[in-house]
Amino acid sequence: MMEVDQNNHLDDSFDPSVYPDLLPIYYRRLFPFSLYNKWLRYEDDKLFVNREFSFTLKDDVYLRYQSFKDEEDMKKEVIQKCPFKIDIGAVYSCRPSDQRTASNFHPLEKELVFDIDMTDYDEVRTCCSGADICKNCWPFMTIALKILDRSLREDFGFNHLLWVYSGRRGIHCWVCDQAARELSPAARSAIVEYLSIVKGGEYQAKKVHLPEILHPSLKQADKIISKYFEDLMLNKQDYLATPENCDKVTAMCLDQNILVKYFNIFFHSKSSQEKWDTMNQIDDVVMQKGLKNRSKHFLTEVKFQLCYPRLDINVTKGLNHLLKAPFCVHPKTGRVCVPIDIKTVDSFDPFTVPTISSLCREIDEYDDSLKDVNKTEDIVDMEQKSIATKIEDYNKTSLRTSIEIFRKFVKNLC
Ligand SMILES: [Zn+2]
Repeated sequence: MMEVDQNNHLDDSFDPSVYPDLLPIYYRRLFPFSLYNKWLRYEDDKLFVNREFSFTLKDDVYLRYQSFKDEEDMKKEVIQKCPFKIDIGAVYSCRPSDQRTASNFHPLEKELVFDIDMTDYDEVRTCCSGADICKNCWPFMTIALKILDRSLREDFGFNHLLWVYSGRRGIHCWVCDQAARELSPAARSAIVEYLSIVKGGEYQAKKVHLPEILHPSLKQADKIISKYFEDLMLNKQDYLATPENCDKVTAMCLDQNILVKYFNIFFHSKSSQEKWDTMNQIDDVVMQKGLKNRSKHFLTEVKFQLCYPRLDINVTKGLNHLLKAPFCVHPKTGRVCVPIDIKTVDSFDPFTVPTISSLCREIDEYDDSLKDVNKTEDIVDMEQKSIATKIEDYNKTSLRTSIEIFRKFVKNLC
């Protein structure tokens, strides 16, 4: 288990130098090849055979257009080449490994994918920046997951969503319904536009403009954000503690009269919570008076600008964009890209995700415990041995729950 320091920052106690030695064991004993094959076949061998994988080998050697005949072929290649990273691309018109000799080689279909990276939250988080994450900023990912999951299921009618922790600082979503896999690039762009509410670069003060009548999808997003907003932005992030951040919030307000009031509150109030509470009181008065020149949903716009999912649009738009495969192991953190169960997303903790070294240790400990039993108890010896041979290696480790989430997802596909 990873240790967390006083500030809840991740202690990088994983030693990356052991990674190349442990990786072959991980692929041989733990990587779920069989479930992978069942997933990406979608009950049609052609879809697996024509799927592009890419490998990033040691020293950043990058191999595109890898493809496999079946589960055994994939397992053999992965174990032999031992890629530091595996990415999944599109299903092509023929085998990607034959692309040089094939005529009219082009992508046919791919899951609709989403990539949410904590680095895109640097302007709204006060605790970390860049590749770092901690317990105080992880809830941004929980909010993003819940908003997108609800919208993809209820607004678009998709059912087969696989959410995955990216191994370091973000999450991925694989929408695997046939209708999603067959979407054109234009349709993918339209969906990602629909789901992009925070717009504008670093120098744009106001990035969310909500219409007077809120779309039902935005109302649902508001409900989700509101559940987390005070604990995340006022307590954990203490966002309104600095004059700079107060200025950022006032800059979102376009009404000069209210702006003056906000400046006053920010000057006199102490805590972030106090400032936010007074903003809400002012908002109530403003709403009753029905002042002009003011967005009806100003406070919701503030909440959205701080907490609404920030998507990497290009990953979703492109049919031939590759995305890191679930169950890869991040070379720097050593953590496995495990699936996230939407039902327990609130308790998902990236700091307790198993690392490749913890998993290898768990297998050894389990096997050693059997050896000890065999030494002392002759009668149960054979019985234990036979149990041991039937137990899959992942069942000896804390990867078991992640494999079960994946197994359920794959089972529901068929
Ligand atoms: Zn943080």
